[in-house]
Amino acid sequence: MTRFRGALLRKSGLPRPYAQSRPLEIAALELPAPGAGEVLVRIRAASLCRSDLSVVTGARPWPLPMVIGHEAAGSVERVGANVTTVAPGDAVVLVYLPQCGACARCAAGQPWLCETGVAANRKGELLTGGTRLVHRGEQVHHHMGLAAFAEYALVAEASAIRIPKDVPPQDACVFGCAVLCGAGTALNTAVVGASQSVVVIGLGAVGLSALLGAKAAGATRIAALDRLEAKFALARTLGATETALPEAAPRGAFDHAIECSGTLEGFELAMALAHRGGKVTTLGLPGPDAAYPLKLAPLVADGLTVQGSYLGSCVTRRDVPRFIELYRAGQFPAASLVSHRIGLEDLNEALDRLAEGRALRQVIEFAS
Ligand SMILES: [Zn+2]
Ligand SMILES: [Zn+2]
Repeated sequence: MTRFRGALLRKSGLPRPYAQSRPLEIAALELPAPGAGEVLVRIRAASLCRSDLSVVTGARPWPLPMVIGHEAAGSVERVGANVTTVAPGDAVVLVYLPQCGACARCAAGQPWLCETGVAANRKGELLTGGTRLVHRGEQVHHHMGLAAFAEYALVAEASAIRIPKDVPPQDACVFGCAVLCGAGTALNTAVVGASQSVVVIGLGAVGLSALLGAKAAGATRIAALDRLEAKFALARTLGATETALPEAAPRGAFDHAIECSGTLEGFELAMALAHRGGKVTTLGLPGPDAAYPLKLAPLVADGLTVQGSYLGSCVTRRDVPRFIELYRAGQFPAASLVSHRIGLEDLNEALDRLAEGRALRQVIEFAS
């Protein structure tokens, strides 16, 4: 039995400011020893993502109580039977969709849509079945198979991807969601090509990662759009060749429009920015009921491609090491995506900063 502290959500929909309503309680938790196919990970760093906020607001329903957090890095403490890809002492990045390798989508070469992994995540359970977290004798759910805002996490082997030990965990953690989703969308879903033009809408950590992915792909024109001009300097540092407010961006001008703002307006804008024959790729998640009226005549006559991107169409075992290599080559400066470094007990205040758009990634650093 491992005893430790973690961020427990009992009730969603509490009012802001969260610094006062305190939806996340730092609670005493327990985990059993890892079973077959499971790995006990000591979390070294974890970061806060907008999807965490949607659990707290209740915009998307999740089984509660739950320990939240789905973007983290750590070291392997113990492994259960039949675990072959990681061993105690290994450094790992945790990924929020365990890819089972056996379902129809995995077999078809689309493990980013793994049906078994998604089903387990929706139930707040592990890929290996059921929950393991316990708080005062009560079963607690795992957010995205990870429950990473805690000192320890018990995860399915497929949730933990080994990385080189010399990568600092406070840099590695953002690879689990922001970089996979952003860079993966540019490289895997949109398949940006050398010398192409790309516009990225929304300059949060995921949008900036999409920008880095477009640059790594060899795009020569990269426009970065946001409502906040304060975000432009960093975007230029990371490789944007132009920055603009949404209304000022040239229409019908880009091979690729990548929507990362998570708003309907952002998607509408993306549709207007791609040129005829261009590709619109969206990874933004507005509310579950957000709908867009698609005009079919221009879709056909302009030969547009419109597609969604989940997990950046990443094969996690292939792409985490691939993106970490780009990081080591200086092409993915992960620290640039981080605006705040906090402790576990600062999470409610961090949720306020996130909700108010005052933060990029906020990294929880755990004492070693
Ligand atoms: Zn995320
Ligand atoms: Zn699968």
